Amino acid sequence: MQNLSKRIMSVAAAAALAVGLVACGGSSTSETKTDDATASSDAVVYKIATDTTFAPFEFADASGTYVGIDVELLAAIAEDQGFQYELEPLGFDAALQAVQSNQSDAVIAGMSITDARKEVFDFSEPYYDSTVCAAVSDASITKLEDLKGKTVAVKTGTMSESWAESIKDQYGFTTVQFDTSDVMYQDVLAGNTAACFEDTPVMGYAISTGNVALTIIAEAASDSEFATPYGFAVNKGQNAELLSMFDAGLANIKANGTYDAIVDKYVKSK
Ligand code: GLN
Repeated sequence: MQNLSKRIMSVAAAAALAVGLVACGGSSTSETKTDDATASSDAVVYKIATDTTFAPFEFADASGTYVGIDVELLAAIAEDQGFQYELEPLGFDAALQAVQSNQSDAVIAGMSITDARKEVFDFSEPYYDSTVCAAVSDASITKLEDLKGKTVAVKTGTMSESWAESIKDQYGFTTVQFDTSDVMYQDVLAGNTAACFEDTPVMGYAISTGNVALTIIAEAASDSEFATPYGFAVNKGQNAELLSMFDAGLANIKANGTYDAIVDKYVKSK
């Protein structure tokens, strides 16, 4: 008898549980429907990878919040197009790898649009012109020829690294790699390396804000393969919808003055 009543109890408990589950399932289904009805594109939160320190495009402010031209353009475009995203400051090379392995949906990181990268990424319309440069701290180094026999700092996976690699035999210097721009600058300031290679808008910003006491001594020709504009990128063949929303939003914020307002905030002379 005891066993039977226990069994009845447990059947009753299971039934109650099942009713509970159905009720929960029912209510959560209707909640999802309500959400869908009020904000249809809210379901997707895109993961957008970026660099860690690449002012004025992306950098953490004093409170640790990410700011910069890329960060604000993305926010304005997402608002214009009604998509949600999460910004992932991974570092430049890591950001590219995250997109290539589909761990992130896209990258915005002052990323130069190049033919080689077009083989593996789909790019947005260009949104900012750039070129690459070499900068030094030692005033006795005034030209690339002065780097003969010296070691220079480059940032892994960047176009400025490609430029340095392409001219190092001609000028007789060797390169050492860094993952982040700020650590690379510190290495030159400490006198460990004779120069660093960097994007000109970024090096120029660091110098003009008084944060980094370096001097630009050379720049790649503006028509060279190293001087290409920045684009937002997705893994090739993936996230076509996100890419077209970026382009549509970019066109809108250019037309309504938001793009200029964001750039002017960081780059006064632009
Ligand atoms: N514009 C350079 C490139 O794409 C560097 C970008 C960066 O360091 N965030 O290679």
